[in-house]
Amino acid sequence: MPKKQYTTIKRTKLAFLPSVRATNKVFKKLHKRIMKWTRTVLRRIKMSRFLKPRFVSEHKSLSHITSTGKMRLLETKTERGYRPQLLAAIKDITSCRDEPFQVCDVNDIIEKYKTWAKLLPDIDTYYAVKCNDDLPVLQLLATLGTCFDCASREEIRKVLSLGITPERIIYANPTKPISHITYASGVGVDIMTFDNENELHKIYKCFPESKLVLRIRSDATSALYPMGMKFGCDPIKDAPKLLRTAKSLGLNVVGVSFHVGSGCQEPAAYGRAIRAARAVFDHSNTLGFKFSLLDIGGGYPGGSGSSLEELADIIKTALKSHFSDLSVRVMAEPGSYYVASAYTVATCIHSIRNVVDDDNVEQHRMYYVNDGVFGSFNCVVTVHDTVYPQPLKEYLDGTMLSSSVWGPTCDGLDKIVDNALLPDMQIGDWILFGNMGAYSLPLVTTFNGYLIPKVYYVMNQELKLATKDILSIPSKYIRIMEDKPK
Ligand code: PLP
Repeated sequence: MPKKQYTTIKRTKLAFLPSVRATNKVFKKLHKRIMKWTRTVLRRIKMSRFLKPRFVSEHKSLSHITSTGKMRLLETKTERGYRPQLLAAIKDITSCRDEPFQVCDVNDIIEKYKTWAKLLPDIDTYYAVKCNDDLPVLQLLATLGTCFDCASREEIRKVLSLGITPERIIYANPTKPISHITYASGVGVDIMTFDNENELHKIYKCFPESKLVLRIRSDATSALYPMGMKFGCDPIKDAPKLLRTAKSLGLNVVGVSFHVGSGCQEPAAYGRAIRAARAVFDHSNTLGFKFSLLDIGGGYPGGSGSSLEELADIIKTALKSHFSDLSVRVMAEPGSYYVASAYTVATCIHSIRNVVDDDNVEQHRMYYVNDGVFGSFNCVVTVHDTVYPQPLKEYLDGTMLSSSVWGPTCDGLDKIVDNALLPDMQIGDWILFGNMGAYSLPLVTTFNGYLIPKVYYVMNQELKLATKDILSIPSKYIRIMEDKPK
């Protein structure tokens, strides 16, 4: 019957057309899906080059699972190089506790600071507090001399409490509650972003003397956390109108900002955004504004092995092409860049479920650990980020099992790793997850009664001495690690 129908349709031209359209629609849909999948795979492959294998997989009984692309991909990504000194420090901590914890490598943050200063010395950094507001991190960056990007009254309060002057803060949230704007006004934090007309009227009423920065939209084609659908006005269609409104209200707009997206995977996006910003600068001139600030936002990669070099070259080239004739202060709001690679999450296996087939042969291993997506691993559900499990111990027999790793709560969503090859581990063994410094700690909840993981700080002796009066870390949470980060 279906065959017959097909022949009839094929012979009649007019009847055939709708079916072509229908087929086109199906193909378009399929094409869209394939493209989306390809982009995800490419993104994962890109990330996987930061990770280097440590174990040779010798999985025998479940080899059919490794024949799927997904499993092979995860297999290469699950193991990454940890410095032996860091592993030793973590082992030392695990010997006296069974609660999950995070480890912050303080020297790693300093290395990031030095790299930025070397590659982009003329661009002031305003650390994005939202990314990780762990007090010692803020204290360290404040001491090193960074400024701060705050998103709310509480973040401003926290940064001011470190003794930071208000001039070192930008209130970089284009949509703000009136009470927060009033607070900023009261404490003298007067640089803030906006991207819409209503915000201008709000600011006009409660803080008309502020220095405003127009946030434009200029998205990377690929980013872990895109921003454009929420923030940023169209630089061509909307910016002129907003500037006219600001002018008519007598507000002081001083510059342009953008954010290409967190975890930007398209370095060229910065060049495009800088060019778009210049067009807005030019337009502002025609309205009588004297712009003096360009804020190139966040989005810089911060995982171990990632490099700032390519991005720095693109940014410098774009600034030279589009801004060399103007006297402009350029600033950036890196968050992930400073902290992502510094933090490792350590979880302990508290339960194991063996999934067996009808012949009682194990097909899959489910490891339940004491931290999950309602704790340190929020990124797994919010942005479908992939995290990479690394067993703390070495398992010398080489057996690798098809495994998943689950968080401790009673929620079915609480899965950290979907499909990975992991050794034959036992209850009480530890699994580490690296590159966890960005958007982890501030998002931890106590759902199901699980506590917020404690943070231990590792650093070399020299740094410990230099920071003993600067970082508020109880000595029981400090571990000494002698060598410098790679
Ligand atoms: N600036 C603003 C306005 C942001 O919203 C964010 C992140 O949400 C950042 C900076 C930090 O971005 P990243 O962590 O990608 O550097």
